[in-house]
Amino acid sequence: MQHHTVIEPFRIKVVEPIRMTSTEEREIRLQEAHFNPFLLHSEDVLIDLLTDSGTSAMSAEQWAAIMRGDESYAGATSWLRLEKVIQDLTGCPYVLPTHQGRAAEHLLYTRIGGQGKIFFSNTLFDTTRANIEYSGATGIDLPAPESRDAGQWYPFKGNLDTTRLEAGIRESGPENVAAVILTVTNNSGGGQPVSMANAREVAAICRRYGVRFILDACRIAENAWFIHQREPGMSAMTCREIAQEMFRLADGCIMSAKKDALVNMGGFLALKDLELALQCRTVLIITEGYSTYGGLSGRDMEAMAQGLEEVFHHDYLHYRIHSTAYLEEKLIDMGIPMIQPAGGHAVYIDAGALYPHLPPHLYPGQALVCELYRLGGIRCCEIGSVMFGRYDQDGKLVPATRELVRLAIPRRVYTQSHMDYVIETFGGVLNRRDKVKGLRIDWEPPFLRHFTARFEEVPHS
Ligand SMILES: *Cc1c(COP(=O)(O)O)cnc(C)c1O
Repeated sequence: MQHHTVIEPFRIKVVEPIRMTSTEEREIRLQEAHFNPFLLHSEDVLIDLLTDSGTSAMSAEQWAAIMRGDESYAGATSWLRLEKVIQDLTGCPYVLPTHQGRAAEHLLYTRIGGQGKIFFSNTLFDTTRANIEYSGATGIDLPAPESRDAGQWYPFKGNLDTTRLEAGIRESGPENVAAVILTVTNNSGGGQPVSMANAREVAAICRRYGVRFILDACRIAENAWFIHQREPGMSAMTCREIAQEMFRLADGCIMSAKKDALVNMGGFLALKDLELALQCRTVLIITEGYSTYGGLSGRDMEAMAQGLEEVFHHDYLHYRIHSTAYLEEKLIDMGIPMIQPAGGHAVYIDAGALYPHLPPHLYPGQALVCELYRLGGIRCCEIGSVMFGRYDQDGKLVPATRELVRLAIPRRVYTQSHMDYVIETFGGVLNRRDKVKGLRIDWEPPFLRHFTARFEEVPHS
């Protein structure tokens, strides 16, 4: 018989209790946290959708691998296993382990960046941009035009605009372009996928002009699933083969293992160029650790090696992408304004459209984030004017282009009934829609204010 329910393709062996809380208690916790869920204690959260980074549940095989961790300083068995898994996957002979993705970015981008250099990307992730700018170089985002159309379904909204890329390379002079970085999936662009055709075009342009092509491969397995499902002629390949083919196009890659390697900490840099790898390795040894462990223990490398195999399993990716789409579809059915379609790892709510009575300076996204905690103990993240707003010379807020709230889904952590509970909570959000108060910033730091800012509720006028 044909089943319609996509079940979690695992049973639960170890459980982590969730402490139940009441709306009254959460109202107090919210005030104590100055209406900023980053300041909440995790034990006061029922469903934590703040990020998918480092929040995966590990499998029995990963925990078993952890017991086999070889903690030798040099040439550990665990390192050799991880190195081989990454070499087979990426086709890169030179692998540098790091404690997380941004450490790998720092090694490479400070090496190839610097004053006068330019990096082009579909969209640079914030730590990527920070490492590029820290080196003195400039990062330029060239997302495909479809990405701006929030309500419209396109199969590959994460693509890079190759017309503008070629023009940009010519204008800057290829010798000044440090690299083209293709982020798959496009995290800052809503977790939207990049097609193989787009990656091939980017690779062809890079080859034509002799420019380096780097993959930011944090969510390459999720991206491969979308290609497998949506791109003509690709369904016969496995997701692992699709990822291998995409890696083959690039000169190297960076990965935060906290995403698609299904571990809580880790990352790597892999390169095809020996000379560049040796230069990065020198800095690796000075700043991270010896070249056969980077910032990682042997057991971390075992879990990563195992995770990089498991993440490409068909049933896992089917369940993973389906569970994100499930949440998206149910919320759309309820009339919640959403960015469409769902990305791989998160759904995005348009809080500006949900709360038309709250202008950007009353932070509708932050108001929704607080509502979800108050009504359901759900923690999530504002991606709007709190995160991206700036002040002009007169101290007036220059708002972000959109007032979004992101619900990121940890891998293998929550079941469908948890998602049903989240969906139910949005019923309450809709009921109280007109009563929701805006927020004003009471205190903020000079940089990255969303992490630590304190808010106050603004009574209705
Ligand atoms: C998370 C992430 C990084 C940085 O990795 P960390 O492990 O958080 O340092 C870089 N690029 C993308 C696309 C990411 O999602």
